[in-house]
Amino acid sequence: MHIAGRVDVNDLPKICPLLSRKTVPRYGENQTRVVEVGGVRFGGERPVVIAGPCAVESREQTLEIARAVKGSGADMLRGGAYKPRTSPHDFQGLGLEGLKILREASLETGLPVVSEVMDTRLVEQVAEYVDMLQIGSRNMQNYPLLIEAGRSGKPVLLKRGMAASLCEWLGAAEYIANEGNLEIVLCERGIKAYSNGEYARFSLDLNVIPAAQAETFLPVIVDPSHATGVSTMVEGASRAAIEFGAHGLIIEVASDRLDAAKPRCDAAQAITPRTLRRIIHFVESRPAHAPEAIHVAHWPLPAAV
Ligand code: PEP
Ligand code: MN
Repeated sequence: MHIAGRVDVNDLPKICPLLSRKTVPRYGENQTRVVEVGGVRFGGERPVVIAGPCAVESREQTLEIARAVKGSGADMLRGGAYKPRTSPHDFQGLGLEGLKILREASLETGLPVVSEVMDTRLVEQVAEYVDMLQIGSRNMQNYPLLIEAGRSGKPVLLKRGMAASLCEWLGAAEYIANEGNLEIVLCERGIKAYSNGEYARFSLDLNVIPAAQAETFLPVIVDPSHATGVSTMVEGASRAAIEFGAHGLIIEVASDRLDAAKPRCDAAQAITPRTLRRIIHFVESRPAHAPEAIHVAHWPLPAAV
């Protein structure tokens, strides 16, 4: 029986011919395409760690955290200048001023920076200040935005929609690739599940890491901060993601000074620079990937008998 509109993993090579291993034999069965952002190599020999505040709240706060994450060994800086908030009455980010602060923090620390863009009208502006554009979970299926990000010429960090299937996620990536931009890194950030709000914010879908890697040659990273929403779970989630073959992590960090202001956004999931350092030590203690040896699960599995 054919159900109209049904999306099936077997359709993936048709949905994402530019990104599917099956249609781009150059990447073979287990090769990852290395995406370079200011010298940082996603999909290379070592997982990449991106860290920084949820939101850019002030110059002082951002510079302090940028220096701290650099000191902890992070490879890249994150921070939202434009924030997607559930309530329009909550802090929406500093906008252009926030981008300028991020640029300054990036120049001072030497860390390339990623920041979210939510609006097609702002792609050019955000791209002028950052090294990598982030498409957030809520915008994963904003097709005009994906097209503009594809045309920007910047690498794109594509978060998975919180209720998106693998097909939908890779279809979204294909919109970027279709504009001639293959500099795409996928990011699993937790999905909606029964437990949401009971003991965690979202549910980290570890299983999607090898599944996505089996379908596409793009690097796949994990955001353990939004996936859990609980600072004490972030370290374990990070380790688990690395064990599942993630090519990197993006982690929210706050100041550990006793007199520091509480973050205005996602305070409950922010870790300290000291915890970040432990996570990075763990990442560095793992054997380096030989690109041809990256583990790829044979997926989809044969039907159960
Ligand atoms: C973020 O990274 O700041 C963010 C809002 O993430 P997500 O889009 O995954 O919710
Ligand atoms: Mn956040």
